[in-house]
Amino acid sequence: MFVERDVFGWKLAVDVESTARAYERLALDCTCSYCRNFSFAVATLPAPLLGLLNSLGIDPAKPANVSEYARQPNGLHMYDAFYHVVGTILDDRAVKRDQFGHVQLTESIDLLFTTRVQQVAPNFPQPALQLEVFFFIPWLLDQPPDPEPLVMQVSTGARSIIRSLARWANRAIMSRGKPN
Ligand SMILES: [Zn+2]
Repeated sequence: MFVERDVFGWKLAVDVESTARAYERLALDCTCSYCRNFSFAVATLPAPLLGLLNSLGIDPAKPANVSEYARQPNGLHMYDAFYHVVGTILDDRAVKRDQFGHVQLTESIDLLFTTRVQQVAPNFPQPALQLEVFFFIPWLLDQPPDPEPLVMQVSTGARSIIRSLARWANRAIMSRGKPN
């Protein structure tokens, strides 16, 4: 059943039950250290993010794609993940975006909704919209990170890389002078 939801100015029509059923069939297949670390750390994501994902029928542990970008001076790793939701965007004119098109959920979490979906799982119900989330998590694996994170970045598509690196650079600039 499609219902209307307003999330940070995005007026959405979403089918939460259908989304939740679709996530039961999904899995995060990649076994690289970054994805395995995400799987360990997903439970440590802040409650506002987990609450939002759950309210849309999303299983936070099963993003369509997850990428690690950079270790921060405070030891946390910047990631982004994107998730699909059964539904569409009815209106986004009320969204107050920053220059990257993101909305801030908390001080350390940004997100956006888009209908430009990537890597949608086969058999995922249509229409699908994409929720992209940028966040920080600790490194919880016993083993150190794999040496070549750039390989992962290439796999996410040039648009996403440029946006995320720009975002990261922006954060680095903004966080100067703040204690980590
Ligand atoms: Zn991986």
